[in-house]
Parts: sequence; C-alpha cells; structure tokens
Amino acid sequence: MDFLETCKNIVTEYPLCDSCLGRQFASLDRGFGNKEKGRALKMLLNVHAQALAQSDRKGAFNLAKALAESGYGPSLATLKKLRRKLEIAPKPCYICSGSMDKLAEFAAAASNSLNGVECSTVAVGCRVPLEVEEKEDELKSRFKLRHGENIRYEVTREIGARIERLTGKTIDKIQPDVTLIVSIPGGETEVNINPVFFKGKYRKLVPGIPQTKSPWQDGRGGSIEEIIGTPLLEQTRGEGMKFHGAGREDADVRMTGSGRPFVIEIIRPKRRSVDLAEIQEKINAEHEGRLQVLGLSKADKKAVSNVKIFGEKAKKTYRAIIKLDREICEADLRKLEPKLENATIYQRTPTRVLKRRGDRVRQKRLYKAVLKMVSPDTIEAIFQCEGGLYIKELINGDSGRTRPSFSELAGSEAKCVELEVTDIEEGA
Ligand SMILES: [Zn+2]
Repeated sequence: MDFLETCKNIVTEYPLCDSCLGRQFASLDRGFGNKEKGRALKMLLNVHAQALAQSDRKGAFNLAKALAESGYGPSLATLKKLRRKLEIAPKPCYICSGSMDKLAEFAAAASNSLNGVECSTVAVGCRVPLEVEEKEDELKSRFKLRHGENIRYEVTREIGARIERLTGKTIDKIQPDVTLIVSIPGGETEVNINPVFFKGKYRKLVPGIPQTKSPWQDGRGGSIEEIIGTPLLEQTRGEGMKFHGAGREDADVRMTGSGRPFVIEIIRPKRRSVDLAEIQEKINAEHEGRLQVLGLSKADKKAVSNVKIFGEKAKKTYRAIIKLDREICEADLRKLEPKLENATIYQRTPTRVLKRRGDRVRQKRLYKAVLKMVSPDTIEAIFQCEGGLYIKELINGDSGRTRPSFSELAGSEAKCVELEVTDIEEGA
C-alpha cells in the first residue's frame, strides 16, 4: 500500500489529533514536529479529497468527513462542496482523547509546581495509561507503521521545552535537581526533589563521639552525623539526611591526621545553594577542640559510592595504647616489630560486630608496626594497615578469631586502651 493510501486509511478509520497522526511518522523528515507534520498530512489528504471528488464522490466525502471530525477545519469547505448542510460532531482523538492539545496547560501547571523549590535543572517524565499505549501499538501493527515514536517521548519533550521557556530552568536528564512526572490525561504533576550532596572530611579530636546516631543513643544529638548534618538539613530545609562515611571508627576512637572523608545526602531539599563556608565555620566554632570539619563543599551522587570505595580501600594509620598483663622490656619490642610488619592477618568477623556483619574470615595486611615503651606494661603502637582491619582485635586476638595477634606474638594478654586513626590514605 502506498504512503498516501495508508494515511487515508488511518484517518478514515481512526479520529486522530494532529500530534497523534504526525507521531506515527516521527522519524521521517525530523525537521518538523509531530503536530506540524500531522497538520500537513491532513492538508495533503484534504487536497486529495477535493481531487477525488471528480471520480469517487463517496470516497471523497468519507475522507473529508473524517478529517473534519478529527479537527481539521478546512475540510468543512470540502464537505460543503460535496453536500450542503452537514452537521459535523468532532470526535476525540482515538489515542490521546485530546491530551496532546493540553500540553501547554500541563506545562504551565508543572512549572507552577516548582514554586518554592530552588532548582536549576529539571527532568520531565510522564505517566501514560496502558490503554493509550495499547491503542497506539494497535494502530502501528495494523498499518505496519515503522517510523513512529512512543507518545511518552513527545509528551516529555514538549512539556520539557515549555518548562524551559516558562521557568528558565535547564532540562537535564542525567542528574536533575528535580524530576517532574506529569500524568496523562489529567495533567497532574508529581514533584520529585532529588537529594543534594555535600562532602568534606572530619577530624574527631576527643573520644566519645559516635559517627552516626544509634537507636539506643540518649538523643542529645551528639553524633558526627548530627553535628555536621543538622545545620545542612536546616539550611536546605530538607526532609531527612543520610550520612555516608569512608569507613567508621568506634565512638571511643579518635580520628585525627587529614581527617575522614564523608558525604551527607539531604533528602527533598527546598534550597540547594547554601553558604557552606559559614556553616563549616559555625560547626567548628561550636565544637572547638572536639570536632573539626574540613573542605565542606557541594558534591554529586557519585561521591557516595566514591567515599564508600575509598573507605574500603584506603590504607590507615593508627596510634594505639596497649596495656599488657605482664611487664615487658625494650628488647622484647624489637623482637615483636619484625613479626608484625608485613604480616598477613586472618581475621574472623569480631564478636562485637557479629550482629551487623556476616561471619567470615578477612585477610588483611599489616604494613608497618612501630612500638614504643610508655611504662613496663604499657606500649604505644603505630600500625599502618590495609583498610578494614579491626585494630582492637589485632591487639587482643578476639579469643583466637584474629591470627596472628599482638597478644599471641607477645605471649601476654594485651588490651587496647586508647585508639586514634591518625591517617587515611588511598591504598595502592
Ligand atoms: Zn491525540
């Protein structure tokens, strides 16, 4: 069947609005929009109807009537020529029931839904009833149409372009600040505000501050997550937050050196541009001598996985104070150091974290061990090790679950009484 014949059959059998007709040929002559193309096809078919009037009066009448019913006004003149006094009742579009003619209205409503939400980039999605897509598919298979596009593409593209014009925002499909979902046929808009991310490093100068708030915490807001996250949450007027640390230290462990990287994710923020230098300064002033935030800056979603990978891979340096159950001498320490250095430690999940982590054996390297006497039964140790090695268990042996351990090699019950992370650096 030739092209003109196909178009004629489509129009005679299905009342279609300009967009829905043009969309069936979307990939042909891309220089024109679907609506424009649909209108042009109807114009062509109306010319065809007038030409047909000479040879096939009935065919011409049927075509002109169908065009008029589908909203093509000039076909009324054609009909007048063929038969006078004909009442034409416009039919709703078979596929969209008229939604495509309301896109400007939907776009205006969607733009208004952004009031009070700070954003510079937007993505548009749409919800189309299954029935609408089924009707379009039916038409495509019935007439073997191979150049059409899905109605969703047209809806999102057209509404997106209008929102750009109306609001001055930019369409960004990859990482938008806000995603608007417009429902067809009603035009209701769902506003999905995407999270905003901030990154930085923290230094914990005193023990006793947990990294994240726990359910059994007394609610004084003393965790690092709350100290850094709460001002960000308030300033961005978000609805919630998530703290992502590059690993974690126990509450009783200090975190010094260049600090531990973190990312804070704010859920549904109403504001995105906040004065980070001021927030950082305020946190640091309020928690002077306890906690310090460095390099607080805006980040993107990728920062979350980056910080997690960094936390696992990074080489860490610890300073530990170890208490022994017997006295030891300088010579013993010199013998211990080479046994610890470059040792491969086989560590079964520590008893104290078994509730949160699966029971398995991890194999980690201890790169460096420098030991110094503090008193006959107290040692200061500097350990540099692969990320993920539990230091308290490296020292006490965790009832044989960590091997070798400091206890085992020293032949004495050893206990970590003070611990500090002094450096985190990316592993080789
Ligand atoms: Zn339509």
